[in-house]
Amino acid sequence: ATPVALMVGTGRGAQLGLLIKGPEVLESTRRVDTIVLDKTGTVTSGKMSLVEVVGDDDALRLVGSLEHFSEHPIARAIAAAAPELAAVDEFEAHEGLGVEGVVAGRHVVAGRPAFVARSLGKPEAYQGITPALAEAVRAAEARGHTAIVGGWDGEAKAVFVVADTVKPSSKPAIARLRALGLTPILLTGDNATTARAVAQEVGIDEVIAEVMPAEKADVIRRLQAEGRVVAMAGDGVNDAPALAQADLGLAIGTGTDVAIEASDLTLVSGDLNAAADAIRLSRATLRTIK
Ligand code: ADP
Ligand code: MG
Repeated sequence: ATPVALMVGTGRGAQLGLLIKGPEVLESTRRVDTIVLDKTGTVTSGKMSLVEVVGDDDALRLVGSLEHFSEHPIARAIAAAAPELAAVDEFEAHEGLGVEGVVAGRHVVAGRPAFVARSLGKPEAYQGITPALAEAVRAAEARGHTAIVGGWDGEAKAVFVVADTVKPSSKPAIARLRALGLTPILLTGDNATTARAVAQEVGIDEVIAEVMPAEKADVIRRLQAEGRVVAMAGDGVNDAPALAQADLGLAIGTGTDVAIEASDLTLVSGDLNAAADAIRLSRATLRTIK
């Protein structure tokens, strides 16, 4: 390949809001046939808000106090809504699952329904959750929201309904990626129902949900083993190993530094349209060389 044309391509990329790590990146960009999209912060804004608390009146104070110690966007939404903070004596974050600790002398757990059930000593996800709480979980997930269960004293006590919003650019960008011949796949640690609701909203058919942070790179490896050339777009610390494993790692510019370092290309504004621009640019640039 002629380095000059690639260099020109790199410069054109900068005008389109793409930071390209090296001219050779355009070569892998051109060959990509599958694009894996992280949900939270990539397809969605990642700016979560607490829309509803169902259950025990004390839940917001106790769980909110605990979430004060977590950096997760869900935690920030819950903590921001907590009116007064209780004393936290112990805190532990379980990546991709939730949090637990000692708040106001109680052992409090909050997170994915199945994780909370397990932490409270219930073998089944919905065991010990009252029918009203189970219904709140189902209703929230069907709407594409995330349901966080909070509990203490060995019982599930409340459901926190947390909402994220799809970026307005996501649906048109995904349509463009499809038109370029790419298969989009939504990848998330969030539950399958929420993920499917979001996927439907933006026009994605394939969903890989409830993936633990450490497993995201394995998902990419599996797709590559099927013979696919895989791009991965992500924003989080969790996404970094998958971004590095992908044939083309696309970082969301508004995301974490760790994700940006692990990727080949940064979408400066966080708009997925820049991913479609990158594919078009790489194809045009390499046509020039030939
Ligand atoms: P994503 O891949 O969507 O960024 P994560 O892997 O970070 O998601 O988290 C997966 C799930 O774990 C969340 O949807 C949530 O249910 C639960 N979770 C993670 N951290 C927390 C927290 N601090 N508080 C409550 N729930 C949490
Ligand atoms: Mg994310």
